[in-house]
Amino acid sequence: MAVGVFELFSVGIGPSSSHTVGPMRAGAVFARELREAGADGGPSYLDRVASLRVDLYGSLAATGRGHGTFTAVLLGLEGFEPEEILPDQVEERLTSIAETGKMNLAGSLVLPYSVEEMVLHPLTVLPRHTNGMTFTVFDSQDEVVHKATFFSVGGGFIVREGEEDSAQKELDESKKELPFPFRTAAELLGRCSSKGLSISDIMLVNEKASRSEEEIREGLLHIWSVMEGCVESSLKREGILPGGLKVRRRAPDWHERLLKEDKDRDPKYWQEWVNLIALAVNEENASGGRVVTAPTNGAAGIIPAVLYYALNYAPGMENATQEDKDDVVVKFLLAAGAVGVLYKEQASISGAEVGCQGEVGSASSMAAAGLAEVMGGTPAQVENAAEIAMEHNLGLTCDPIGGLVQVPCIERNAIAAAKAINAAKMALWGDGTHRVSLDEVIVTMRETGRDMSSKYKETAMGGLAVNVVEC
Ligand code: SF4
Repeated sequence: MAVGVFELFSVGIGPSSSHTVGPMRAGAVFARELREAGADGGPSYLDRVASLRVDLYGSLAATGRGHGTFTAVLLGLEGFEPEEILPDQVEERLTSIAETGKMNLAGSLVLPYSVEEMVLHPLTVLPRHTNGMTFTVFDSQDEVVHKATFFSVGGGFIVREGEEDSAQKELDESKKELPFPFRTAAELLGRCSSKGLSISDIMLVNEKASRSEEEIREGLLHIWSVMEGCVESSLKREGILPGGLKVRRRAPDWHERLLKEDKDRDPKYWQEWVNLIALAVNEENASGGRVVTAPTNGAAGIIPAVLYYALNYAPGMENATQEDKDDVVVKFLLAAGAVGVLYKEQASISGAEVGCQGEVGSASSMAAAGLAEVMGGTPAQVENAAEIAMEHNLGLTCDPIGGLVQVPCIERNAIAAAKAINAAKMALWGDGTHRVSLDEVIVTMRETGRDMSSKYKETAMGGLAVNVVEC
């Protein structure tokens, strides 16, 4: 399936799309295979399973504890899907596993197992990707019943070992079926110019290859409502974030203060509101709450914060009807999604692969494009906005303290949201012509990520992670 807007914006739980959502999804695939074997009358796997082994490699092993990888894998192996599991279910199942030392493999086989039994290989990177994991189940004679290796390649996407080529082929095939396939910004701009369409229009036509326009609109409005729900839930939860870093949630206090200081919604407070939204989303993410990957969990606050700006502070929104606002949400997410496709196609959105420039940088670039689009930018101006936002995130390393998605991640989202707004404004003051193209910046991001020391790619072995005392 070609990467589309609903793959880039999917609902999951925090704190990390590559280290929580992807591993849970991989576990759920393995659980489904265990459940389904034998359903057609063939030999059942679950009838034979006596024990389980989980091996985690590279970044998943190095920072998995802080990112909730271990517990996410367990929940996936129980059969839970990241899009559907509720925060209460997470708590209930993890408490039960911790208290009894038993899990419910594939939702039906009670098996003694706990996170302490996972086999960690932090210094071993499997050939395909640093976020590797292998699940193996054995019978009572220690014979392998079923085994699979998966890679969590960023943004909640997973690839199975041995199927990399077929996944790429399937992606290429499905792209051929799109009315306006594009891989680069140059191709995207070419489509816009030859058809006389905007970037969000091109994305909409492509999305219509797999669902109706009404479903697309409803789906995107649902994505926005989950983003809003995430903020709402975060603003009610005070106290310290989990993980031992003792990072205090700031969003509830800031909200209370803003409600007092900005009773009349004076536009001069726009920055404070944008900061608040970014912090609220990322604090909710850091506590394992429900978020939208946009395009990853670590960077989940940027797009909601900039979309909030678009809905509340963009010129002409003062008298907007609900329908106008819905149009803005749809257009914004489609344009942001189109730019997200470019990063998925030409580089990476995985912090473990290219550093934080791939997560926060990509999100900032996508948000800038979305804002420029709804503020009336031409395709060239929208592309310029996306380019400016990424250009000034190049080289951004991933060095979360304690492997937790808290410092620098939470504040970094607010800063990147501000960059996105500024990038859109700068692009809209120009005529779309500019010296450096978005494609050149994307390739530079990819090359910079390739050259970056692995210490700065979600391993918690460099930068702030080693220079700041954790307690
Ligand atoms: S530093 Fe950036 S890439 Fe790394 S975990 Fe935090 S948000 Fe994600």
